[in-house]
Amino acid sequence: MSPKLHLHILASGSKGNACVVEGPEGSILVDCGISRKRLLDRARETGCDMDAVDAVLLTHEHSDHTAGLTVFCNHFAGELITTAGTAASRPYLSDLPFTLVSHDDEFAVAGIGVRCFPTSHDVADPMGFRFSCDGDAIGYVTDTGHLTDPALAALDDVRVLAIESNHDAHMLKVGPYPGYLKERISSGSGHLSNEQTAAALADLVGPDTETIVGMHLSQENNRPSLAVRTMSSAVGAEAVNTTFTEARTPDGHLSVIAAGQDRPITVW
Ligand SMILES: [Zn+2]
Ligand SMILES: [Zn+2]
Repeated sequence: MSPKLHLHILASGSKGNACVVEGPEGSILVDCGISRKRLLDRARETGCDMDAVDAVLLTHEHSDHTAGLTVFCNHFAGELITTAGTAASRPYLSDLPFTLVSHDDEFAVAGIGVRCFPTSHDVADPMGFRFSCDGDAIGYVTDTGHLTDPALAALDDVRVLAIESNHDAHMLKVGPYPGYLKERISSGSGHLSNEQTAAALADLVGPDTETIVGMHLSQENNRPSLAVRTMSSAVGAEAVNTTFTEARTPDGHLSVIAAGQDRPITVW
């Protein structure tokens, strides 16, 4: 099957998140946590056409996912979609004309099927997504302390799995963060660790899965090489470079990479 969907990860991490899911008839922007200028610069860098964006989907209200939204909307006539809880959670969000959906809704935007599922995070009503088009599928989940059952079901055997791999449990434990923050991050409503994500891959990776992208990596409590190494060990992938920032299974079918804060990547 030739891929119908492409994922442009323009920024990923606690300093700002934004991705574009590109389909044959249009695109969806997922979260808008960086400035419009940076968004457009990064999109240009990856060859992503922001004029093709038909809708913005918000996962949740944290500023690293929403900080650029108000200015972006001043220049955007498409649909804004999120849950009622997220829309009502901040004054600057409640002023925007959202189309409200439930965290278990299914709908389509520009020929791309969107299946929502609830995530577990310390906010009003967060969600993740499975995007599908003509047999192709991309899974997207970040900012969740654990993977809910609907998340596990929705993310099963997608071709591209963009999944949070926020922190190395040991680095977080011995790192500089205050105790309350360590507790928040590692709690069931915080962020997925490399180890949790690696454990989930056994369930999620199927015959159609070709790329696993570690998302929302902590700059203080993780390293791209650690995230990639931990996920790779769960799926039998081996390093393809000396820095261990990319790995592949011996048959070449499945790649493991990590997204970053400062550099956009595209998964074709
Ligand atoms: Zn976040
Ligand atoms: Zn968050």
